[in-house]
Amino acid sequence: MDDRLLQVARDAIGFMPDDEGLALERAGAEAARGGLPLLEVGTYCGKSSVYLGAAARDAGVLLFTVDHHHGSEENQPGWEYHDERLVDPRTGRLDTLPFFRRTIVDAGLEDTVVGMVGRSAAVAAAWRTPLGLVFIDGGHSEEAAHADYEGWAPHLAGGGLLAIHDVFPDPADGGQAPFHVYEGALASGGFRELEGLGCGSLRVLRKR
Ligand code: SAH
Ligand code: MG
Repeated sequence: MDDRLLQVARDAIGFMPDDEGLALERAGAEAARGGLPLLEVGTYCGKSSVYLGAAARDAGVLLFTVDHHHGSEENQPGWEYHDERLVDPRTGRLDTLPFFRRTIVDAGLEDTVVGMVGRSAAVAAAWRTPLGLVFIDGGHSEEAAHADYEGWAPHLAGGGLLAIHDVFPDPADGGQAPFHVYEGALASGGFRELEGLGCGSLRVLRKR
């Protein structure tokens, strides 16, 4: 990944450690070789979008990224991952959309990364384009994480990659919903794990 993009990714507000972001970039590059677009659930301020977008740009495919931009439960005031800078003073609500735009402009990825503002399940239900990669990093409640999997996994082309963030087998390390999605995908028989592409809490599976 080129130095300028890497610097923008590192500087962006968000929840993607650099080593996991670089692993995500490698998964994106592998998936994009098939020529199909990539899709991310959970844009936030665009940090992971830069890692994935770098891979998409190099392969000449688009990265779609979906978020309602009002934050997950844990981003709301009073919760562990709240960031005061992201509150829109006019509404008092979290609004990460302007920060996402800034990140993508700084990265020079406006021709590659397409932001979609809305609820993941609603967009998934209307979606018709086969995807080369789906990256799930949206809401971390059981309901939200499973809805993202149920909504988006069917749009993955055969051989496409399913990447899941915040997979913590040990409850002491974090919430269990992404881990349950990961276990469910493997148990379905429809996916096998690509151990070499995972890193930290990032797991990468290939659709059979
Ligand atoms: N990938 C980001 C972090 C994502 S945080 C990074 O690299 O930093 C999770 C995001 O998911 C939040 O921005 C939240 O608004 C979004 N989200 C949660 N539930 C959602 C839903 N049902 N539909 C769309 N976006 C959702
Ligand atoms: Mg995450």
